[in-house]
Amino acid sequence: MSAVVIDGKALSAAVRERLVARIKQANRPVRLDAVLTGNDRAAGIYAENQAKTCAAIGIDYRLHRLADGAGYDDIAGRVLLLNTDEDVRAIMMHLPLPAGIDVERVQSLIAPEKDVEGVNPANIGNVVYGRRSLVPCTALAAVEMIESTGVTLRGARCVIVGASNIVGKPIAVLLMRAEATVISTNKFTVDLPSLTRSADVVVAAAGVAGLITRSMVKPGAVVIDVGINRVVGPDGKSMTVGDVAHEEVREIAGFLSPVPGGVGPMTVAMLLRNTVDAALR
Ligand code: NAD
Repeated sequence: MSAVVIDGKALSAAVRERLVARIKQANRPVRLDAVLTGNDRAAGIYAENQAKTCAAIGIDYRLHRLADGAGYDDIAGRVLLLNTDEDVRAIMMHLPLPAGIDVERVQSLIAPEKDVEGVNPANIGNVVYGRRSLVPCTALAAVEMIESTGVTLRGARCVIVGASNIVGKPIAVLLMRAEATVISTNKFTVDLPSLTRSADVVVAAAGVAGLITRSMVKPGAVVIDVGINRVVGPDGKSMTVGDVAHEEVREIAGFLSPVPGGVGPMTVAMLLRNTVDAALR
């Protein structure tokens, strides 16, 4: 048996189509304000792509550039200005921030109702309570991908590999809210394979290339690969892989998300959906 590969690009395109319809129907401007500090090349490219993606679905993207030498007060000042601007409904912060600036301290300044990345601790806390909130985008993406397989989450045994505040923990909480049986694991977990082998759903979010192998997966399980790792490929060139040994796990899993083309594009779609939710709330 070969796993069904969950097409993150197609799922993400379907989400975007629904957003276009919502924006048209609401007939109100939807805008995303992003703050980019310094000259990081990757962040610059990401922002350019984001501008194009937003334009394509009718979101007005405003990029606020701060100089490389910007300090905490400059960045915090900009966030506070955006917080109080009534025309601004959705804010995101490009990373990295200049060395020495505490990212979490900056993120916790973003007004929770405008925090479309879901990085303010208030939003992460609201996920626990099941209150209406802006949920971290990668966690939303992972759970949407699990749901797209049609698996019944209530009572399912889910093993989450990785327990960071912004990825692994919110995924665990969202699955708990769906009344799954959730096991959260981390780098100190003893005998990870015996846990993953017992799971109906495995979410790999550790940042370790090839961590999840065929012998760690139950036949027919849903396997979601959140990892993004740069490795040297067989041809000596750098390539991106996930945390799952894709080819061998594909032979045994029921559903498997690829890297690239899996959780990544869905994460972008969830940021756009959070933006539209925040703007039209
Ligand atoms: P992190 O470094 O903050 O956390 C990693 C977690 O994995 C920790 O809890 C750690 O204890 C655990 N871990 C590490 N090695 C392990 C092992 N051998 N066994 C079990 N657990 C182990 O990383 P993060 O920010 O949560 O990101 C995780 C991965 O997801 C990274 O590869 C990152 O690039 C990727 N990511 C992808 C997206 C996306 O859009 N697809 C978004 C965010 C992060």
